[in-house]
Order: sequence, then C-alpha cells, then structure tokens
Amino acid sequence: MIIVMDPNASMEDINKVSSCLELNGLRVNLSKGDSHMIVGVIGDASKLDSNKLLRFDGVQKIVKVEEPFKKANRLFKPDDTIVDVNGMKIGGGNLGIMAGPCSVESEEQIIEIAKDVKASGANFLRGGAFKPRTSPYSFQGLELDGLKLLKKAKEVTGLPIVTELMSTDYIDEFVENVDVIQIGARNMQNFDLLKQLGKTDKPVLLKRGLSSTIEEWLMSAEYIMAGGNENVILCERGIRTFETYTRNTLDLSAIPVVKKLSHLPVIVDPSHAAGYWYLVEPLAKAAIMAGADGLMIEVHNDPKNALSDGQQSIKPENFHDLMKKIKKIAEFEGKTI
Ligand code: PEP
Ligand code: MN
Repeated sequence: MIIVMDPNASMEDINKVSSCLELNGLRVNLSKGDSHMIVGVIGDASKLDSNKLLRFDGVQKIVKVEEPFKKANRLFKPDDTIVDVNGMKIGGGNLGIMAGPCSVESEEQIIEIAKDVKASGANFLRGGAFKPRTSPYSFQGLELDGLKLLKKAKEVTGLPIVTELMSTDYIDEFVENVDVIQIGARNMQNFDLLKQLGKTDKPVLLKRGLSSTIEEWLMSAEYIMAGGNENVILCERGIRTFETYTRNTLDLSAIPVVKKLSHLPVIVDPSHAAGYWYLVEPLAKAAIMAGADGLMIEVHNDPKNALSDGQQSIKPENFHDLMKKIKKIAEFEGKTI
C-alpha cells in the first residue's frame, strides 16, 4: 500500500500517518516525488482500514500495491534512483559504462586494458577475480591476488572497479577494496549473500539470473534494499531460451519493463547475452536506445588467449569504435556519459 500525501501536507501530517502505521506493526518508507510526498507501507497491510487513513489530514489517496517488491517499486519512489559511485553517477540520465576483461589475468593485462577502455570513454573497470565457472577444472580466477591487481589498475587509471563476489566469506575484503560489488547471474537468488550486502552501503550490481523472471529479479533487489542498502544497479545479461545459436537471449524488453516497475537503474551486458564478440556492438546500441542506464562490456587485448570468455570479448580498438557510436546515441537520447 502507498499513501499519497497532498502537496500541502505538513511534516506533522506525515508524522501522524507514519506513527499510526508503525503502531499497527508496519514499516514506513518516505519518499519525495516531484510534488507529493509518498508514504510507502511495508509489511502486511491487509488488516489496516484504509478508510480510516483517508481521514487523516493531508492524505490525498491510497493506492494498493500488488507487486511483492516494495522498496524497489516505482510507486514507492517515483523518481529515478541515481547510484553515486565516488562521484560517478548511474541512473537518471547518467550512463555507466563498465568495460574490461572477463577475468583479471595479470598485472600487465589488467592495466593495459584499463588504460585502453578509459581512453575510449569507459567510466568503470570490470574484471573478475573470483570466477563462477561451469567446470571446476576451468580457470577459477586469481581470487584475492586479482583484487590487488584491480586496485593497482584503479590507482593507475582512477577508474572505479566492479568485480564479482561469490560468497559471504570475502564480503569484508570486497567492502573495503571494491567500488561496485557484482552479484552474478548464478548467485542472484543467493539470499544469504543478498542479506549480507543489505547491511552494507556498497553499490551492488545485481545481474539477472539465467532463468529468472523480472519479478524474481526485483525481489532479489528487494532483499538487498530491505536491509537498508538502496544502492542497487540491475543488469540484464540475457536469459535462457530455446535458442541455441546465441549463448543467451538478450531480453531488451526487460529494460522498459523494469523502468516502469522500478526506480532502480538498469544496465545491459551484451557480452554474456550474446556469447559472440560480433553481436556485442548491435546489442549494446539497441540497449541504449531501449533506455538502458549503461553497459557492461567484456574487452580483452588478446581474446584468442583469454583465460575465460575470449569468444565474446571485443578488442580495445572495437570498443573504441563502439564508444564513438554510443556517445552519439547517448547525445540523441539526452543522456550523459
Ligand atoms: C561475468 O560478468 O563475468 C559473469 C560471469 O557474468 P554472469 O553472472 O552474467 O554470467
Ligand atoms: Mn565473462
């Protein structure tokens, strides 16, 4: 349930409504829209007499919210959320461009790629230190050493780092050293991990699960937000369908759907969606045109010898050409990078 307050409602009116809700065992989420204050009600409000609430001074209307996600719901917070990462903004017209290799492989590799993607206009460096691989015999990432190399690349380029956390074991290291914590598709419903992230204030990039519905994805965001961390960035990275030609199927429609349902920023990872490097450019362009708040792109200086996902990684020169086009599309769409 949400309570829309009259534009002239005073803070005292709002406090009276909030107290009544809290007395009924409910939680309140206040948010300021363009003209109205919105009182979001969290908890089971089914026993609450909405007619009684309408009698409070300053209450304009009461809307029943059907979706199970509350804090992530646009009804609760009409304005776009802008996630601020050390002054770098994502959402509300600001595009976040995250680029870098699938895995951090060596100091030379990550620093060279970081410099290249920065020069082309990326504003975040991605790179996996802990890798979720289908086979236990495949390269599992450099782990904590990889995190150190990412930090070095950050020192050299100034780019904030985005990297995947797979278990609660390393949460403290990540909170201390990483700018955006990525939760991969395979861990989207690792609720324990999500709850722990909810207790931090670190921006979280929450990838959509391989076979997750949009509602399940938003419920996972809700887990993080329910704990008090509202810095969530969603990432569409393709879903499993019957099609086998591409690695996954990029669900472009998820972008406008998420924008309608939620205030959270949503970016697109065309690399994991497509699985082939030549599909990255058309899908990246389509994603920005469809309203995405940014991109996550795998870039490698030697894709043939990459330790993971070489077939879907574009070379720095291709990324440079792509960014020239993305900058034009961003301008056309009235967005800034
Ligand atoms: C990745 O970003 O390298 C990755 C493993 O992505 P996903 O979780 O989307 O498969
Ligand atoms: Mn990858």
